[in-house]
Amino acid sequence: MTTSQPLLGGIELGGTKCVCLIGTGPTDIRAQASIPTGDDPAVTLRRLNSILGEWQQAHGPVQALGIASFGPINLAPKSPTYGFITSTVKPGWSHTDLVGRLAVGRTSRVGFNTDVNGAALAERRWGAARGLSDFAYVTVGTGIGAGLIVNGQPVFGCNHTELGHVRVVRAPGDSWAGICAYHGDCVEGLASGPAIAARAGKPASEIPDDDPVWDLAAHALAQLLHTMVLATAPQRIIMGGGVMEARPGLLVQLRRRLRASLNSYLELEELGRGIDEYVVAPGLGALAGPLGALALAADAYSVAAPARAAMPG
Ligand code: ZN
Repeated sequence: MTTSQPLLGGIELGGTKCVCLIGTGPTDIRAQASIPTGDDPAVTLRRLNSILGEWQQAHGPVQALGIASFGPINLAPKSPTYGFITSTVKPGWSHTDLVGRLAVGRTSRVGFNTDVNGAALAERRWGAARGLSDFAYVTVGTGIGAGLIVNGQPVFGCNHTELGHVRVVRAPGDSWAGICAYHGDCVEGLASGPAIAARAGKPASEIPDDDPVWDLAAHALAQLLHTMVLATAPQRIIMGGGVMEARPGLLVQLRRRLRASLNSYLELEELGRGIDEYVVAPGLGALAGPLGALALAADAYSVAAPARAAMPG
């Protein structure tokens, strides 16, 4: 038990479900709950506020709140719509003010970022990326996203990155259109859970491991990894999300396909004998996402109050 640590709140908003938790870290989660994301943000945000409120009655006020959300979201601090989900394919959720509706009145220390950037920071704090300054966390689930950490920080320019939508070199002979509403056959349009299900004509959970649809998904995902390796040379790539969890064989395929795609262009130990430690599963398992929200809270707390953090009481 780490009772000297600040009590943190975390909310992870995903395409299918939202996870709320309160605690100080992975070994001290005081409460955790999951609700469907649904199509009406007013209802979902009210429920999340009510859950957090009840927990604060029981455990005391949170010292910081982390919100890790599906996107795209607005992270530009000076924008009037900072803290909002911007445009999203998720029905009902475009232009939703998350920070205003979840954090205001609760705490001034708020960490807000994408779900994948949060998960990446959680993996660095507690999981498979400890001690690394440059790495990537990729989620393959309802959507595909990548938290790309460079020089210790999530890549951020005019806004966050959206690597789940990079275009990929198609597998020979494959002309399936893909399902991304914006790009058709981007990596999310080809290899997300819903894309895999659409191509196979049945839920992903019912597709046998030897179905060729998995090879095609792995091909698209390997292209994303190829792009990341060339763009920022991450020291490790962590592969999380529901699809990766359910199909551990994909990880083995991705290592092989990444090497094949790069075709010995880079002479790196990571891509040779070290490949099994280079493309890895999350150290935090399925909790990488929810703990991402807690990691954002922890970062917000330490940035906002370094002096107070060191003081007793
Ligand atoms: Zn797309």
